[in-house]
Amino acid sequence: MKIVFATGNPHKLQELKAIAGNCGIEFILPPESFDPVENGKTFEENSLIKAREAARLSGEISLADDSGLCVEALNGEPGIYSARYAETPQKRIDKLLKNIENAENRKAKFVCSMSLVKPNGDIIFQTIGECHGYIAEKQAGTNGFGYDPIFVPDGYECTMAELSEDEKNKISHRGNALRKVLEYLRNN
Ligand code: IMP
Repeated sequence: MKIVFATGNPHKLQELKAIAGNCGIEFILPPESFDPVENGKTFEENSLIKAREAARLSGEISLADDSGLCVEALNGEPGIYSARYAETPQKRIDKLLKNIENAENRKAKFVCSMSLVKPNGDIIFQTIGECHGYIAEKQAGTNGFGYDPIFVPDGYECTMAELSEDEKNKISHRGNALRKVLEYLRNN
């Protein structure tokens, strides 16, 4: 079975393939013209917009994720704006650390919505995966991407960026969401 994974982020495709393993699904990228307008108000709306745009362009069953980091002390921000919080990954980290420097509550969670749609855009399955933890005082680690260097998952004493790819995938929001998608596909 072939599924288009609607992303322009090579890290996400790499994670997805590693999580899916030998499940019999070939994940391919959408056509180069894929450039969806992510104007939804929720992770669910945005993952559906991306999946439908990939399906429209490719004519294939398409899967999209929309993910981000929600920080309690910032009322859930940056949330759906995680990728646009500042210009570069390092500036986004610096801004977030600055914005919560006086906060006692450093709890946060990564959220990932996944939408699987038919070539005509009809929804096949939607789900959410989460990974709970807190924001470190300073960044550490070089693995992963995005906010990984400042996110400490519950039950760990290191940041997500200090975990191996395998360890991250076992607990990550994207891993949790994708495992639900794969279970749905196995049973249907
Ligand atoms: P999206 O590509 O619109 O889903 O934006 C997701 C943004 O959220 C990314 O650019 C990262 O800034 C952040 N993000 C999502 N997942 C992760 C993750 O696994 N680790 C670190 N940052 C993430």
